[in-house]
Amino acid sequence: MGLHPSIIDKTVAAELCTGCGACAALAPDAVQMHLAEDGFIRPRGIGALSRSQTGLIDAICPGRAQSAPAPARHDHPLWGPYAQISQGWAKDDELRNAGASGGALSQMLVWLLETDQVDGVVHIAAHADAPMANQITLSQTRSEVLDAAASRYAPSSPLLVVAKLLETEGRYAFVGKPCDVAGLRHWAKQDPRVSQRFPVMLSFFCAGVPSLNGAEQVAGHLGVKRSDVKRFKYRGGGWPGLTEVETHDGQTRSMQYHESWGDILSPQVQHRCRICADGIGLAADIAFADAWETDARGYPRFTEQDGRSVILARSAAGLRLVREAVRAGALHSEPLSIDALEAMQPGQVRRRRELLGRLAGRSLAGLPIPKYRGLGLWACARQAGVRQTLRAMLGTARRVFLKHRWQS
Ligand SMILES: Cc1cc2nc3c(=O)[nH]c(=O)nc-3n(C[C@H](O)[C@H](O)[C@H](O)COP(=O)(O)OP(=O)(O)OC[C@H]3O[C@@H](n4cnc5c(N)ncnc54)[C@H](O)[C@@H]3O)c2cc1C
Repeated sequence: MGLHPSIIDKTVAAELCTGCGACAALAPDAVQMHLAEDGFIRPRGIGALSRSQTGLIDAICPGRAQSAPAPARHDHPLWGPYAQISQGWAKDDELRNAGASGGALSQMLVWLLETDQVDGVVHIAAHADAPMANQITLSQTRSEVLDAAASRYAPSSPLLVVAKLLETEGRYAFVGKPCDVAGLRHWAKQDPRVSQRFPVMLSFFCAGVPSLNGAEQVAGHLGVKRSDVKRFKYRGGGWPGLTEVETHDGQTRSMQYHESWGDILSPQVQHRCRICADGIGLAADIAFADAWETDARGYPRFTEQDGRSVILARSAAGLRLVREAVRAGALHSEPLSIDALEAMQPGQVRRRRELLGRLAGRSLAGLPIPKYRGLGLWACARQAGVRQTLRAMLGTARRVFLKHRWQS
């Protein structure tokens, strides 16, 4: 007999859902993803889950739990496992320009395809019918990868296609947010086909997923209605590149990246991302990020320049790929120190260090928290010190308490 899909309801109600789509892929007859009113993609029950489906969802869902990534050559308290840290860019100028930072991620995908190491790439592109939204795409050529380059700050559910691809004979590179890749790694522990079909798992640093309503507000600020949007580019076309809206009547309007992300999109990040232990792609073979230059106060400078990506090879397989892509002349890479990485990514540093305090604050306010195992949160909190941890704890408890009192 089937069970009511209460694991889905509970995860969504507790604001733990990341929107990855794994549950709907594992139980398509019982769970469907939909765009909720708040502008996030969420699962909903459409049928009864079996006991075994519930067990699998519980084991794979990255919103409910995340566990330690595979060991690597070094394990840094803040940055996690890594084999090599470098910065670099695509040697293909068009990819470098189109990418969010240095196009290194897209270049890696093109090189993997052109050297027949994978048959396809699962990643995210603009939705064909709703240009502010995302859709999953399977790219097989350079031009398809190029079309999907650059970050899209809106919800996406890339794990939705995994179950179907497991039924094929192909080998794919998977690109997803750190939580998507964590979910795929959990899945690999449950089903040996995952590692065969997805020999390469790539991710990027992630400050969180904004609601799709955020993009609509960006368009609104530019005086464009949703129905008038023909093309919506969040960034890219330079570093960081402009946020650009093209309308059906051929006009293009734009906004600086620091305005769209900083003022409009980042305040709309989903709650689950605010208690995320892994904005740095801990489970990926390679994690990419912006190699920002920072000013004297440690804030990233967003002046336009040629793009540069952080390239953080975590696994032995990731290290081999970076080295071979560099040797083949596809990728430029130069060493980057941990101190330089820390200076480039002040937001991620603060978030990792404060997370234990934030989780304690949420617990204090009586709300469930994700189960994190082996993600180095105590080591990060030690770096923050007692005062910063307590401040994060009390600040979170207060915010949660006020929000729930307001809603009740
Ligand atoms: C929601 C979000 C938050 C981010 N936060 C940070 C941050 O805090 N710090 C930081 O340094 N970098 C962040 N990034 C990553 C950064 O913007 C670049 O992706 C990264 O620097 C790699 O750049 P690149 O030029 O090498 O990648 P590109 O060559 O531009 O390749 C990007 C790849 O990511 C895929 N992609 C785009 N949007 C999504 C999405 N929503 N979900 C899954 N895949 C997607 C594309 O399909 C493409 O394959 C974030 C990206 C996203 C999508």
